[in-house]
Amino acid sequence: MNKLLLLFLLPFTLFAHMSIAVSYPFIGAITKSIGGEHIDTVVLANGNWDPHFVVPRPSLIAKMRNADALIMNGAQLEIGWLPPLINRAANPKTQPNAPTFLNLSHHVELILKPKSVDRSGGDVHPDGNPHFHLAPENILILAKTIEEFLISIDAEHQAIYETNYAAFTEEWSKNIAIWKTKMAEKKGKKVIQFHDNLAYFNKTYGLQSIGTIEPLPGIPPSSRHTLELIELIKKEKPCCVLHDVYHSTKTAAFISEKTGIPIVLMPHDIGALENIEDLKSLFDYLTGAIK
Ligand SMILES: [Zn+2]
Repeated sequence: MNKLLLLFLLPFTLFAHMSIAVSYPFIGAITKSIGGEHIDTVVLANGNWDPHFVVPRPSLIAKMRNADALIMNGAQLEIGWLPPLINRAANPKTQPNAPTFLNLSHHVELILKPKSVDRSGGDVHPDGNPHFHLAPENILILAKTIEEFLISIDAEHQAIYETNYAAFTEEWSKNIAIWKTKMAEKKGKKVIQFHDNLAYFNKTYGLQSIGTIEPLPGIPPSSRHTLELIELIKKEKPCCVLHDVYHSTKTAAFISEKTGIPIVLMPHDIGALENIEDLKSLFDYLTGAIK
């Protein structure tokens, strides 16, 4: 090779970063923690969007086209928007059968698998609840899964990924202990949610979800269901309505007015609220939100 050309190419090969597309900000944060300087992450959905209903805009197709790998949540959370992006980007590296494709849901235990699924009834979670990242213990599983994935596609930097994973785990485990202490006194509290975003969070900390404002996952509130919920709240006396940031709080406000229970906004991802800048601040917020 021409020496001049080699000199020109050298910096690009030395500093070549792998670009990894991820569906949601929390996946990007874990991937960046493990990947460090060798990985660039391209996050497709914003943290303040409804993760179930992302619009597959052309700008997202462009982001997918140049990716060297793709990491998704799975369990049908992205069913409405990621498959069309994958098809239209036509990038061999982000196809579901590629070794550079990772579906995180295959590595965690899903809860709340419906016994019978009527998609015509609108249930958006036929594989079980896909919001598994809202249990801090599951973040450790996801970190391990992503570490192994990065090593499998970029063995050259194995030692770095292992070191980063160890540091991440050590720090995160300390935080888990702090959050556990913080949440201990909330154990047994009853809660209402808009959508069962917090299924894994509630399970971790012993919160009892007694009802959702949605009649079924993905189905908008109906007046009949809302009135039933108000009766249930009067009888069971839950502490609060835990509400996501992307649905209107109109029905929750009506319920709150009729029953006196407060609405507590619960961010589901990094960027869902302005001050949620990383994974730690997400869980710091969630574990401090319920009074
Ligand atoms: Zn959901």
